[in-house]
Amino acid sequence: MDKTEIDIDPCDHITSDAIGQPGQRVFYIQAYQAEKTYTVIIEKTQLQSLAVGIEQFLAEVARQNPKLEEAGADYVEEQMRINPPVDPVFRVGEIGLGYDQTRDRVVLFVREAQGESRGETQDQGEDAEPESGSVIRFWCTRTQLRQLARWGAEIASRGRPMCPQCGQPMEPEGHFCPKKNGHLH
Ligand SMILES: [Zn+2]
Repeated sequence: MDKTEIDIDPCDHITSDAIGQPGQRVFYIQAYQAEKTYTVIIEKTQLQSLAVGIEQFLAEVARQNPKLEEAGADYVEEQMRINPPVDPVFRVGEIGLGYDQTRDRVVLFVREAQGESRGETQDQGEDAEPESGSVIRFWCTRTQLRQLARWGAEIASRGRPMCPQCGQPMEPEGHFCPKKNGHLH
């Protein structure tokens, strides 16, 4: 199996963005270092948890390192937009965060999702372990990550408006409200 490990150290820039129509958006994390761009696909719910996770993580780092400057949160929207080509390396499964105190860098760790779709054909015997799959480590400043968290939460929330009747998202082409129709098929 092809399995790569990439360290983007340091990230010159890292962001997240969504592409597509409301309700069908695909979310990405993208970073670049010098001339090279790295993009991965992330679920919207993963991005939302990551945004919350980053804030908690940075709060904990600040608590343990009280002399550190506060990480900035202000981003410029145009700079947070994804840049073509969008050529994802993989779809993200596991996500983690770590802190290198010596360098004051945070690492955002993403591991390739393991194919559920492969199902029963995925019989690799004893070699099959959950720890397989490609890995990318994005080495960022605390400010870069906080900007990613703030912007990521913003784009995740910009989706379809919620129906005030049933609380489900409304499609742009119209919404068949179960509260009004009486039942859902
Ligand atoms: Zn409704």
